[in-house]
Amino acid sequence: MADRDGVIWLDGEMVPWREAKVHVLTHTLHYGLGVFEGVRAYHTQNNGTCIFKLQDHTDRLFRSAHILNLPIPFEKEAINEAQLAVVRENNLDEAYLRPMCFYGSEGMGLRADNLKAHVMVAAWEWPSYMSPEAKEQGIKVRTSSYTRHHVNISMCKAKANGHYINSMLALKEALDSGCEEALLLDNEGYVAEGSGENIFVVRNDVIYTPELTSCLDGITRTTIFTLAAELGYDIKEKRITRDEVYVADEAFFTGTAAEVLPIRELDGRIIGNGGRGPITEKLQTMYFDAVKGRREQNLDWLAPVAK
Ligand code: PMP
Repeated sequence: MADRDGVIWLDGEMVPWREAKVHVLTHTLHYGLGVFEGVRAYHTQNNGTCIFKLQDHTDRLFRSAHILNLPIPFEKEAINEAQLAVVRENNLDEAYLRPMCFYGSEGMGLRADNLKAHVMVAAWEWPSYMSPEAKEQGIKVRTSSYTRHHVNISMCKAKANGHYINSMLALKEALDSGCEEALLLDNEGYVAEGSGENIFVVRNDVIYTPELTSCLDGITRTTIFTLAAELGYDIKEKRITRDEVYVADEAFFTGTAAEVLPIRELDGRIIGNGGRGPITEKLQTMYFDAVKGRREQNLDWLAPVAK
């Protein structure tokens, strides 16, 4: 990852990949207070490479920063342009993008009153988060022994760097026990989300997803609401228990990295037909059609990279 050609946008300038460095006393490295996004660019049918829901990601980055009182020293327009430029200037056909706003090494300590906020945007090829078989057959998930962030401990509406300690502990535990992803519960024991995904379940032709209390306001989650509405489903946001997932007809994760990913098993219980359910398949197909520019009605979700 570190050693490669290409450029990274750092504080308003394109910097050669190998020179985009920070000091070891970078504040965010010590305390984790920073915000970031995970964004994808896809090769589309008629508009070349496009970033999917660029404005929504930039808006969430700024909301995350606002929640944490981190002043982003750029306008949204500049951060949008930086994302388009890193994909373009690295000649990427498809890409994963990482915008991040972090505190520098101007000072140390928890007061954080003598610091400057910095912004970087990198992009690289990252074809698939899971194997192609996983997208068709679904993944094995375990309920995590780690509780998801509580709203009054850390704030779940912010996509904050430090939050991902919890995600990484949960994911490692799941991987170590032979599963592919973790399902985290909130502090009351209700289903919250995956380590980097929102969750949906389907039962008796109704689609449910947890309320946003203890999970990230996912951009893919919102996309699924729109696509499901087109199929005639009005998704119900409600508290979900883990045994409701066990007895669901279908379950799936959504996220920019994971895209739309069926869940075939939770805690050793097969879900539905043990593969990708029919509603999951329809939504997954619509999602891939949308990101690849094959849906005329959703072309406004795509920001072309070419000038
Ligand atoms: N929850 C968490 C904890 C995440 O990290 C992500 C990925 N950003 C999501 C949900 C899904 O969000 P999105 O669809 O915006 O990628």
